[in-house]
Amino acid sequence: MNISNLIRDNRSREYDSYNKNELDRYKNGHSYPKTFNSWEILNDKIALKTVDKSVLIHHGTGIPIQTRYFFEIDKMVAGERKNITISYQNKNYEAYFELESSQTGRTRLLWYSDFRDILKLELPEYYEVIENSIELNKYIFPKIRFEKVNQYNFKLMIIRYEDILEDIESDNLEEGLIIKEEVESYRLEGKVKHVYGKLYERDPKNRALAIAYHGTKCKICGFNFEEVYGTRGRGYIEIHHINPLSTIREETKINPSTDLIPVCANCHRMIHRKKENILSIDEMKELVCKKESK
Ligand SMILES: [Zn+2]
Ligand SMILES: [Zn+2]
Repeated sequence: MNISNLIRDNRSREYDSYNKNELDRYKNGHSYPKTFNSWEILNDKIALKTVDKSVLIHHGTGIPIQTRYFFEIDKMVAGERKNITISYQNKNYEAYFELESSQTGRTRLLWYSDFRDILKLELPEYYEVIENSIELNKYIFPKIRFEKVNQYNFKLMIIRYEDILEDIESDNLEEGLIIKEEVESYRLEGKVKHVYGKLYERDPKNRALAIAYHGTKCKICGFNFEEVYGTRGRGYIEIHHINPLSTIREETKINPSTDLIPVCANCHRMIHRKKENILSIDEMKELVCKKESK
């Protein structure tokens, strides 16, 4: 037995003991989000994978043992393969989970060259950076969002941080005016209702998380910017804060999965059109439904 086999052997023993104790505790005990290496499990339907070398070069990714349960592959045995379908922008691609030998205990998700080529097309700048290992720490790599439809079908979406920052910046002028206006009216009339709401909506971290949880389709009318405007609309959506804080001084921790919601520009404008009567999501949905059924 050579040295590398010895190391492998040790590792598999480690895996075994890990398996029995920690793993169940991780699956059942920890609260969301759960982070492992380049994976974040946001809830039982959504996981994020930070794009890395394996994704771009080796057309696949390792599935850490702690995150197997999300993909419902924790019962797989060594050498087994499980075929799945990944869909990206309404197209389906074949892929599979593979559990290597019991010695390595490694699980991987692999896709074929058709989807690898899509990723290459979608992320050319990162492809170059990663392939040549240029100043990797200078970049915030995009995340692939996995939405579990069922255990054989996952919807994928790419979340780019630079898009999120850009959208917030391009929002600045107009929203900045709105904020100023509202601060002004606070001074005059004591109304502060939406100031913090606006600020929260424009925090890049909140925006990124809201998109991670909810995707980029309008939650009210279903509008999808990319479907209508192609690459120009890719990843674009506005983020609305459902419960604007009642006072400007109140420090409330925001929960992007429940407090923020993606809405299209039209719906967002209509929600806020009357400052004294900001509509709830249900009220907006009702408006849109009424219109459609006529
Ligand atoms: Zn809408
Ligand atoms: Zn809003």
